[in-house]
Amino acid sequence: MSERNYYKEVHDLYRNKRERAEREAEERRRAVHEAIPQVFDIDTRLARTGSEILSAIMQGGDYESKIEGIRKTNTLLREKRSELLLKGGYPADYTDIVYECEKCADSGYVGLDMCNCMKAAIAEARLSDSELGRLCDLQSFENFDLSYYAQGSERLSIEHIVRSLRSFAEGFDSTTSDSWLLFGDTGLGKTHLSTAVGVTVIRRGYDVLYKTVQAVIDDFEEVQFKGASQQSIKRYYDCDLLIIDDLGAELTNQFTTSCIYNIMNVRMNKRKPTIISTNLTQKELRDRYADRITSRLFGEFKPLQFKGTDVRRQRLARK
Ligand SMILES: [Zn+2]
Repeated sequence: MSERNYYKEVHDLYRNKRERAEREAEERRRAVHEAIPQVFDIDTRLARTGSEILSAIMQGGDYESKIEGIRKTNTLLREKRSELLLKGGYPADYTDIVYECEKCADSGYVGLDMCNCMKAAIAEARLSDSELGRLCDLQSFENFDLSYYAQGSERLSIEHIVRSLRSFAEGFDSTTSDSWLLFGDTGLGKTHLSTAVGVTVIRRGYDVLYKTVQAVIDDFEEVQFKGASQQSIKRYYDCDLLIIDDLGAELTNQFTTSCIYNIMNVRMNKRKPTIISTNLTQKELRDRYADRITSRLFGEFKPLQFKGTDVRRQRLARK
């Protein structure tokens, strides 16, 4: 489960995009040349600019004023060209290459820096490929419905949770952000909000892994008992943000407990943030897991307690 090479995929995509833009401009140019032969003549002359400058330099003498002359002629030729296009019923920039992103001319880079458009493209590729891709429109911060939470302390508490998680996601940093423990009964929005966090953080360019606890255990079992490569669980330790949904839904035994502990421990040592959600109460967590897990969970994860009445059931009742 090492991450796919999105950089290479997006770079290839950009190369195709750029080549297509250039090809289409070339086709428009050819069409114009056929329709307006004078434009063809001008383009032929403009294409000679390089060799004209070179021969001016080779001839020596006052080549600077010769180059200045060539430049002036070219400006006039370009003006004439625009006029001809307009007269022929084309926009003046008809044969220009049209890039999707003017800033980087679809190269993906502005100088040595990756252009924002390419960062966003890589993020979207990651998102569409992740467990969150199909949920990203359904479970966002924007469509989280506070009206299911009773006015008063319930509402205030969920508002605080949404605010906390939203500012965590929007200001996410893979080495300084906190880890969170989301707990409370089922149907109170824990999954919705952890999805919203995951999507937001992916879109900001980070590697996010979102898994139910059972899927985590399955992956570790593959390695432990079925000979899958260690490589396939590496991302649990390395990804920028790991979200484990539904802790407590797995069959608890020594193996599953040590998987969860290892993940938490390695990530804590690397200062990498993790979000864990669970339907269990603090007491139930204590009864179920070894001290080494609960002491980390309660000591190093920031707790957010979800309170209210099952939103799914309320939603059905409203229909
Ligand atoms: Zn760009």
